[in-house]
Amino acid sequence: MNPRLEQLIHLQRVESDLRRTQAGLAEIPKRKAELEAELAADRAHLDAARHSLDDSLKARKRHEGSLQDLEGKRSKYKGQLMEVKTNKEYTAMLHEIEAVEREIRAIEDQILAEMEKAESLTGEVKGEEVGFKAREERHRTDVRGLDERARVLEGDAARLGAERDQVAKGLDDDTLEMFQRIAKLRGSAMAEARDGMCQVCHVKLRLQMYADLKRNEEIVQCPACNRILYYEPPVPVTVPEP
Ligand SMILES: [Zn+2]
Repeated sequence: MNPRLEQLIHLQRVESDLRRTQAGLAEIPKRKAELEAELAADRAHLDAARHSLDDSLKARKRHEGSLQDLEGKRSKYKGQLMEVKTNKEYTAMLHEIEAVEREIRAIEDQILAEMEKAESLTGEVKGEEVGFKAREERHRTDVRGLDERARVLEGDAARLGAERDQVAKGLDDDTLEMFQRIAKLRGSAMAEARDGMCQVCHVKLRLQMYADLKRNEEIVQCPACNRILYYEPPVPVTVPEP
């Protein structure tokens, strides 16, 4: 094979690997941001459960305050009941006491409801806390994994960059310039020729051109996409001896 062609194939392979590595590296901060957002959503969920419990406890305290006030009112009325002079006043006072007692029963029901609510919310918060702790642990593991992956990819990128520079240095200026021009325009500079076709743009190659190409002796460009064509001879199938 023409050594220049061999170097070009090598250059293309290294450049493709480098591009894939860089794309992998660029994915990492995006994935990290996604992980952070997921954890923040989980934390918000836990905070919401804690808030509901807090609200319920506050409501119960408020009701308990009202209950104390009402009970104070009731004993005051009961004291006044002893001091009334007329039957009419006595009946009126009894009505007042009944009204206060109705209020007391209603508020006691509310306190009971809040107690039941707080009990179920406490269970919910505990469950959320356990779940969140596990998710936090998983998050840390995932982030460590991503950091480790970034380190590996950075090492790969540095190695591939150096290899690319080394291969590029071995090429003459004109060939390198041609490679870079096509790569910039097309994304890749090399195309395999197989089955009489350019395997990237799929144009059919003239018979003579394809026959010449198969020798891999000249730098030949695809007539349609301009990529540099090369031929990969099929790997001979070896039949194992019986
Ligand atoms: Zn082509």
